[in-house]
Amino acid sequence: MDWVNEIADQQELSKEDIIRLLSITDKAEQDDLIRRAYSVKASAVGTKVYLRGLIEFSNQCRKNCLYCGIRSRNPKVQRYSMSVEEILQVVEQAKKNQFTGIVLQGGEIQSPDFTNRITGLIVKIKKATDPDFRITLSLGEQSLQTYKDWFHAGAQRYLLRIETSSEALYRKIHPDNELHNYNTRLECLENVQKTGYQTGTGVMIGLPCQSIENLADDLLFIKHMDIDMVGMGPYLEHADTPLYQQKELLLPLLDRLNLSLRMIAVLRILMPTINIASTTALQTIVPFGRELGLKAGANVLMPNLTPAKYKSQYLLYENKPCLEEEADECIDCLANKLRMTGEEIAFEDYGDSKHFTKKHRAWGAGQAIFT
Ligand code: SAH
Ligand code: SF4
Repeated sequence: MDWVNEIADQQELSKEDIIRLLSITDKAEQDDLIRRAYSVKASAVGTKVYLRGLIEFSNQCRKNCLYCGIRSRNPKVQRYSMSVEEILQVVEQAKKNQFTGIVLQGGEIQSPDFTNRITGLIVKIKKATDPDFRITLSLGEQSLQTYKDWFHAGAQRYLLRIETSSEALYRKIHPDNELHNYNTRLECLENVQKTGYQTGTGVMIGLPCQSIENLADDLLFIKHMDIDMVGMGPYLEHADTPLYQQKELLLPLLDRLNLSLRMIAVLRILMPTINIASTTALQTIVPFGRELGLKAGANVLMPNLTPAKYKSQYLLYENKPCLEEEADECIDCLANKLRMTGEEIAFEDYGDSKHFTKKHRAWGAGQAIFT
C-alpha cells in the first residue's frame, strides 16, 4: 500500500506524520491524500454540501490586522454598515433560495450600541424565519456577556479564526498592542465554546514566515480545542496593507492553493465529523477552487449574498470574485455547477456539525455550559 494511506490508516497521526502529508509535492501523492480525505468525509458526514448565505453587513472595524484590506487605518475604504431592513431583505432572499441559515460577518466593534443592535437584529431574524433557521456570527472578539447575549437571542454558531496557533507568528501579522493580543483571541475562542455555540475557527495558509511545522501545529490546535467547524484558506495579499511589503516571501498562488487543499484533507482525516468550509479565498486563486476544496474533504459552502454595492467595499484581500454580481450566483446555477463535479446540495438539512451534535448528546440535553 502507498505511504499516504498507511499514515492515514493509523489511529492517531503524529506531528511528523502531518508534516509529511503537508509537505507532499508529488501530484500523484497529493491525489492519494485527497481521495483518502474524500472517502473519510463520505463515510463520516456524507458527500452532500451544506450551504450558508454570507452577509458581510459592515466593514467598520476598530482593528488593524496587518493583512486585512478593511483594517481601520486603510483610508481608501468607504465604510458602510447595512441597515436592519437591508439585512432582513437579504435574509428573505436567502429563505427564498432555500438556505437553512446565514452567516453575519463584519469588522470588530465592541460598543454597547453595536452589540445591542446585533442582539436586536438576531431577534428580528428569528422572527422572520422558522425557529430552526441557523444564525452564525463572525464578529470578532467580544466580552463573554456579549457572546452570551447573542447566543440567548438565538445565534447558534460563531466563527473566530485563531489566524495562526503560533503566538510568535501572530505577533508578526498583527500590530504590537493590547488590541491585537494572541491570548485574548484564545480566551475569546474558549468563551465562545463555553457559551454553547457550535464553534468555528481557522487559520490563514501561506502567510509570510509561516512554516509547515506551524501549519501542522495549527491542525493539532484545532483538534486539541475540539473545534466543531473550520474555515481556513490561503492568505492573499492586499496592496493597501503593511504585510504586502513581505510579498516576496510568499509561495506562488498555485502552491498556496495546493497547500490549502492538503490542509483541508489532513484535517478531514484528523477530525472526520466536523464541518469544514471551502472558502472564497480558494475560488479567488482558481475559479473552481471551492469545488477543489469539496473534493479535498470540505463539506460547507458560503455563497456571498452581500448586495453588490457593499461587496466591493468588503475586500479583505484582492481579486475577490463576483464583485459585480448581486448574489454570487442563483441557487439553481450553483446546484448545477456542483452536480457537474459530482456534488449535491443538502437542501433539506440544517447542516449542524456532527461533531458538535455528538458531543452534545454525550453531555445530555443541556445547552450552554455558562448561562
Ligand atoms: N472581523 C472578524 C471577521 C471578519 S474577517 C474577525 O477578524 O474575526 C474574517 C477573516 O478573514 C479573518 O479571520 C481572516 O482569517 C480572513 N482574512 C482577512 N484578511 C485576509 C487576507 N488578506 N487573506 C486571507 N484571509 C484574510
Ligand atoms: Fe478587522 Fe477582522 Fe480585518 Fe482584523 S481581520 S482588521 S478584525 S475585519
